[in-house]
Amino acid sequence: MQYFSLNNREHTSSFENAVLRGLAPDKGLYFPEKVISLPKSFFKDINGFSKVDLAFQVIKNFVGDEIPSSELTKIIEHTLDFDFPVVSINENIGVLELFHGPTMAFKDVGARFMAGSLGYFIKKGNVGNVTVLVATSGDTGGAVANGFLGVDGIDVVILYPKGKVSEIQEKQLTTLGENIIALEVDGTFDECQDMVKQAFLDEEIQKHRQLTSANSINVARWLPQMFYYFIAYQQLAEIDKKIVFSVPSGNFGNICAGMLAVKMGLPIDHFIASSNANDVIGRYFDSEKYEPRPSISTISNAMDVGNPSNFIRIIELFEKDFKNLKDHLSSYSFTDDHTKKAMKAMFDETGYIMDPHGAVGYLGLQEFLKKHPEYYGTFLETAHPVKFLETVERVIGKKLEIPPAIDAILNKEKISISIKEYADLKAHLLE
Ligand SMILES: *Cc1c(COP(=O)(O)O)cnc(C)c1O
Repeated sequence: MQYFSLNNREHTSSFENAVLRGLAPDKGLYFPEKVISLPKSFFKDINGFSKVDLAFQVIKNFVGDEIPSSELTKIIEHTLDFDFPVVSINENIGVLELFHGPTMAFKDVGARFMAGSLGYFIKKGNVGNVTVLVATSGDTGGAVANGFLGVDGIDVVILYPKGKVSEIQEKQLTTLGENIIALEVDGTFDECQDMVKQAFLDEEIQKHRQLTSANSINVARWLPQMFYYFIAYQQLAEIDKKIVFSVPSGNFGNICAGMLAVKMGLPIDHFIASSNANDVIGRYFDSEKYEPRPSISTISNAMDVGNPSNFIRIIELFEKDFKNLKDHLSSYSFTDDHTKKAMKAMFDETGYIMDPHGAVGYLGLQEFLKKHPEYYGTFLETAHPVKFLETVERVIGKKLEIPPAIDAILNKEKISISIKEYADLKAHLLE
């Protein structure tokens, strides 16, 4: 499969090259040249597929013959090696739990698939060693560290802002060792991200190391997120109402993958982009003007994005047709106060515990269903509530049970290197 750059359609790339580079040389995001629909029979028989077979059918055309079927199957088996249950909340609402992976946030799927694909291309010998350089505000770092741990030929360097990630998130990226190095930056997340961008433009470093990025601009992290929607649909196949998904959104990678799944024929009728105070899309719908803004800090910090990088892929999917986009996507935004009230009410009424991100998704769904009672709605729970322990315990007024995997990590020793400025990062990368 060929990909083109959204900055210039003439700039095309193989899957391998797109995975290896992350962004096109002209700084555009890669987009598949064509989206091949799955046959009607596939959806009729969807319940007959195992999770792995289903995912294989979904992704195979996007990879083409660049990874042999047997290898691709192995990568998918490892990627999906946990559950994705839809838990019923009431007769009209279900929650798709995406937090049963090793770092308890949905980014595990994309990180594992990318690690598997990149690991295969390195093993094949077309490329030398690669350094994955990534800045994290919390969940990406842990998922990437875990996904790439022990993969031959790959070094991982993670930058995170000192004192600004939760204790669990910090331990998840500083206790693994092996090929994972954590740099604790005396600064903000934006400063970490700026250092990473500077390193990508630094020719001295480029001569010394092959760098790639592992956030959702990378097609190997973005595309496998389609799996969630197909696996959820299998569990919803009995429902004879229209189907809507509410996705707690930050960089819009996850929801954009859902919309790509629809382009392949998955019968989802509508999407809801649920945001916290960082309401870029809501404002876009009101004014038809896309105006990024500096991000605002909230309790759903993984969605504190003022300039969502994947939005341009959504526009492309809808061929820049504003009306068509509005017919298929709704957007709502909620304050921290709303979010906490929803977490508390859900717990008091049903006993179900939501994390702040899932709660934003639930609120968006609730808002939509008020006007559209003919739908069955599913909201995505993108992280386990223990990842936001303090907030969740304070809001619901109850202690959470810590899963054994998290407990084990909390007892491990943190190993990180403190850095202050770009020169420190550069010195480290030139070592
Ligand atoms: C990354 C993340 C999101 C946002 O996903 P996008 O694909 O960036 O829109 C939502 N919730 C959690 C817990 C996350 O880690």
